[in-house]
Amino acid sequence: MKWFVSIAESVRRRVDRLRRRLTARVRRAAPRLRYERVDEFPDRLKPVTLYVAGEEPHVWAAAMLCPCGCGDVIELNLLEQASPCWSVRQHRDSTVSLTPSVWRTKGCRSHFILRNSRIEWCRSRDDYSSRRLRRH
Ligand SMILES: [Zn+2]
Repeated sequence: MKWFVSIAESVRRRVDRLRRRLTARVRRAAPRLRYERVDEFPDRLKPVTLYVAGEEPHVWAAAMLCPCGCGDVIELNLLEQASPCWSVRQHRDSTVSLTPSVWRTKGCRSHFILRNSRIEWCRSRDDYSSRRLRRH
């Protein structure tokens, strides 16, 4: 069975190499958002940063530059009393998620989900009725 072992080895090595290359590519394409807790939002927001204003558990708003690169500032209400309302969750690995998805009605009309500090783009409006998105 030596031949089998050596084939398995070579396949494993190839898969490893491919996986490393893929992860590297994903990392470059989607940088993780930094998470900054602030008392008030700065006048100029840094890109790839999610700002959350307030102290846990009384956070009241989140802000970020639109991840599409259009330069617009997106401000999100975190207070349950107001609508629409988003919630920010910090995970054990210190990444953050935002629910539900953000869908801009003005400007670039970007639609995305922030999950584990990464932006996941939602596809066109036609896809909105699909089951995957209805949950958000
Ligand atoms: Zn945009």
